[in-house]
Formats: sequence, C-alpha cells, structure tokens
Amino acid sequence: SKEVAGGSFHFYHEGMGRRTIENVKYENALYRALERDEFVLFYQPQMDYCTGEMAGVEALIRWQHPTEGLIPPNVFIPLAEQTGLIVPIGEWVLREAAGQLMKWMDAGYAPVNMAVNLSAAQFEQDDLVTVVEQVLADTGIPPRYLHLELTENQLMRDSELAINTMHRLKKLGVQIAIDDFGTGYSSLGYLQKFPVSTLKIDRSFIRDLMDDDDDRALTDTIITMADNLGMEVIAEGVETEPQADYLAARSCALMQGYFFSPPIPAKQLEKRFLKNK
Ligand code: C2E
Ligand code: CA
Ligand code: CA
Ligand code: CA
Repeated sequence: SKEVAGGSFHFYHEGMGRRTIENVKYENALYRALERDEFVLFYQPQMDYCTGEMAGVEALIRWQHPTEGLIPPNVFIPLAEQTGLIVPIGEWVLREAAGQLMKWMDAGYAPVNMAVNLSAAQFEQDDLVTVVEQVLADTGIPPRYLHLELTENQLMRDSELAINTMHRLKKLGVQIAIDDFGTGYSSLGYLQKFPVSTLKIDRSFIRDLMDDDDDRALTDTIITMADNLGMEVIAEGVETEPQADYLAARSCALMQGYFFSPPIPAKQLEKRFLKNK
C-alpha cells in the first residue's frame, strides 16, 4: 500500500478489487468527505507561451482531510472509480469548477477556459449530457469555456456510444479535449471520427523531449497532424524553458506544467494569473 507523504493514511491498496472491511471503511470515508464538503479544487494554468497569457486552467481535485492534510487524487480517485463514488464526486467537480469560473467573471476577470476531468464511469452515465446542461444553466457560464477532458482509452471502450455522447455534448457548446494523448492505442486518423477540439500530449513524452529522439518524433507528429485536423494541442508537464522553446518552435503554443505553475488554490490563481476584462 501507498502512504501519503507525512501521514499514516493508507488509502490505496493493491488488489482493491476485493471488498474488504478496510475498503468499506475507506468507501465510507470518501462518501463522508463528499457530504462534509472536504474536497477542494486546485487550478493549473494552461499558458499561451507566445503571448504569455493564460488561456485556461485545469481543475484538479484534492481531499482536504481533517487530520491527514491535503490528499492528492492518485490516492483516492482509483477507489472512487471502483466504488462508483466518482460519479457524484465528478458532478461536484463540474459544478464547483463552473461555479468558480462564473465567480471570476462576475468579479470582472476576463473569462478563461475551464478544463474538467471526466472519468469513464461519468462519461458512460445516461444522464451526463443532462447534468452538463444543468450545470451550464445553473452557473450561467458561456458553454465554450467548459472543456471536458477524456482519455483516449475512454473513447475506445465503446466508440459508438462515445461518438454519440460527444456529439450531444458538442451541441451544448462545450469543448472536448483528449487527455494523456499518445499513451493509448488510437491513431490520429481514427480520432478524426470524434468531435474533439483539443489534444493534450501526455507528459511522459514531454519529460524526455530534449534527449529522446522517439519522443521528439512523436511529439512533432502529434502537433503536425492535429494542426491538419484543425485541433488545438496542449503540451502537458512542461517543466523547463528548453522544452517550452522546443514546443513553441513547432507552433505548439499552449502549455501546462511546473515551468509555469503547479496546480494552486483559486485565490492564488486569481492574484497571479487572472486579468481584468
Ligand atoms: P491529469 O488529468 O493528467 O492531470 C495532470 C497531472 O499532472 C496533475 O496531477 C498535475 O499536478 C500534474 N502535473 C502538471 N504539471 C506537471 C509537471 O510539469 N510535472 C509533473 N511531474 N506533473 C505535472 P494531480 O493533480 O495529482 O492529478 C493526477 C490525476 O488525477 C489527473 O491526471 C487525473 O487523472 C486525476 N484527477 C485529478 N482531478 C480529477 C477530477 O476532478 N476528476 C477525475 N476523474 N480525475 C481527476
Ligand atoms: Ca487532465
Ligand atoms: Ca493528463
Ligand atoms: Ca522513449
């Protein structure tokens, strides 16, 4: 099992498939966390490297545990997915993120894209489109600023269903981004069938960009082909200036990574990155 830094909170267990007493305890803890409003969203800037402006943010969940401190998503999202709790948690994320964007707009900040991660179980809910529609109506954000992030493999589980759901989401005016792109099995040609507006190049390719020929070739190919398909590209996990310069030279201007900022609380993002209208 994995330990949370500085804490004794064993949360992630190998072989979590079994419904052990421990699991049920953790499941209850997660459920209570939702009831007690213990989840928080951090926001990581997605920068336009050419203009130096922030184009958008990605909302990333954390659990503000009353005694264990801030617990990262890798620790509890797998269990949430396994138990189905990811559905109500994911809906909370959607509402919270959209609500935050509306608050920023009401406060006079220029709107930015708000990217939200959707897990497979959420994506496959019959009422996902209705939920998204309701969140848009309740918060009042312009739909085009909402970007829903799906992984490649989520599309491959049931492509027909995925295409159908994506078209219905598109009709609402929201955008769809493919997360961790390059790690799955889909070809770019195949991806053309899906109404996707953005590809996010997985950070594993960006990490070794400066010294791995294969990763460079793959990154170059994704950028060129996405451009031909009329899709935007965001490079994930940009940590150094040479990486950023390399990407910019290949006309990949949108970047996300520690080089610009880690995910930070809303207040900090406001101060450091948001611009007035
Ligand atoms: P992801 O969607 O690929 O999110 C990007 C992750 O990479 C984030 O980790 C972010 O902090 C990290 N990251 C960003 N820039 C850099 C960098 O330059 N270097 C390195 N090494 N890492 C960087 P985080 O916040 O711990 O989230 C991990 C994963 O948890 C996410 O990966 C996503 O799969 C999942 N997750 C987070 N929030 C949510 C959520 O609200 N719903 C769902 N379903 N999943 C979520
Ligand atoms: Ca993501
Ligand atoms: Ca990613
Ligand atoms: Ca490699």
